[in-house]
Amino acid sequence: MSAAWTDAPSNRTDFIYWQHRFVRLYNTFARKKEELQPLRKGAVRIYSCGPTVYRYVHIGNLRTFMLPDLLCRSLEYLGYDTTQVMNITDVGHLTDDSFDRGEDKMLVSARLEKKSPQEIAAFYTEAFMDDAAKVNIRRAAQYPHASNFIPQMIELIKKLIARGLAYEVGGTVYYDIASFPAYGRLSRNTTDKLLAGARGEVDPRKRNPGDFTLWKAAGEHRLQIWPSPWGPGFPGWHIECSAMSMSLLGEEFDVHTGGADNVFPHHEAEIAQSEGVTGHRVVGCWLHGGLLMLAGSRMAKSAGNFFRITELEDQGFDPLAFRYLALQAKYRTKLNFSAEGVAGADRALRQLRDRHTEWSRDTGPIDPTEREHAALESRFRAAIADDLDLPAVMALVAELHHSPLAPGARAALLRDWDRVLGLDLDRAMPTTPLPEGAAALLEARDRARAAKDFATADRLRTELATLGITVTDTTEGQRWKATRNNPRSG
Ligand code: AMP
Ligand code: ZN
Repeated sequence: MSAAWTDAPSNRTDFIYWQHRFVRLYNTFARKKEELQPLRKGAVRIYSCGPTVYRYVHIGNLRTFMLPDLLCRSLEYLGYDTTQVMNITDVGHLTDDSFDRGEDKMLVSARLEKKSPQEIAAFYTEAFMDDAAKVNIRRAAQYPHASNFIPQMIELIKKLIARGLAYEVGGTVYYDIASFPAYGRLSRNTTDKLLAGARGEVDPRKRNPGDFTLWKAAGEHRLQIWPSPWGPGFPGWHIECSAMSMSLLGEEFDVHTGGADNVFPHHEAEIAQSEGVTGHRVVGCWLHGGLLMLAGSRMAKSAGNFFRITELEDQGFDPLAFRYLALQAKYRTKLNFSAEGVAGADRALRQLRDRHTEWSRDTGPIDPTEREHAALESRFRAAIADDLDLPAVMALVAELHHSPLAPGARAALLRDWDRVLGLDLDRAMPTTPLPEGAAALLEARDRARAAKDFATADRLRTELATLGITVTDTTEGQRWKATRNNPRSG
């Protein structure tokens, strides 16, 4: 038996809390759930691949950015401190990695919009922050811009060359993938498959068609050029994340997040670079979010098949309906986006807020140690600790509706869980309280309806009407509103 187990508390409730301190996350590198063991006790350091700021982010990007937000919120709920760094890619994101064809996406936008790359980056960074805030993604501790880390990137590339892992040809530096035997482990690609997959025209000077760019000699018409030991040029996309993550979080940190499409080549390359330089493992857990799909294809900026969160808003949806939708699916699975799906999530969210409002009118005492209350709370912790099982949390939220707990206690649980869910459930809190006794009548009526006891439900409706509360039944449950002042209170 390990030391940790012998430390286990004997009391059952304490045991449950103790047990759920252990968070398990699905590590793409190991292809299984592993216990999170932060390098610094109780503090988790997270690096997240952020947006390329040459266009607006779409809701697929937002789904990926929601992952570290949910991770931080969950970890904080469970008592950890978190530090999250998310980069802003404002340079070097090529449209095509093949020889001399790749155009920098930033520069394409700058040309089309007749602005400088800096103006483009500043504009879309701000738009990204606004869009992220609309879905309650909390701000990271730091948002490093790639363009501010060029010296650190050059240092890494120099070390890779010195270690025989990279080589220069005509001012361009390539990573020599054959020199790093673990290349392909994250994505489970064999070198053969990687080579077969190399698309388009390949630079004939490469030792290996799969070698990737660390530094690119500046071609014509480039606006973002930096001096380097290999001549003027600009960095490849992958080296940016090695430089920013290790500069800000150190040569070992706990979690690295990104979308599933980042596994290869981006994160595979990052491992080759960071581990190639340090000689040891740098990232504890690689966490990847499933892609958002639209009509069977990946939602993508470049393909133009995307929605911005503001477009959903313009269609009358609450932006947080998208967050609700995302919470209903396991973060690792692909999620199909549809108008019906978001409309359903929007209705369900409003209904949940209404319920929370109704339940909050019960101002009776709340005892968190009460058996049912403690059990729900413990199941919530267990769900978030189990690889952020938010669909299980959403099922718990639905279960509250039929819980024997007092309405006030249900509202209190919802508000507490909303620290993780981030759905602003208290947004519609009433300014005037329900008349005395009305909350209990509404609850009783809800139960009567659930039991198909319509005679009782009708009687309770009449009784509520005498208190000035009009009740209507909808497919999503009963709705009520205060139609006039409470007649009994005069
Ligand atoms: P980009 O700005 O294109 O580099 O993308 C920013 C982040 O969004 C990356 O981590 C991608 O993995 C992620 N991403 C891109 N497309 C999707 C999608 N359809 N669904 C989920 N995440 C995506
Ligand atoms: Zn990255």
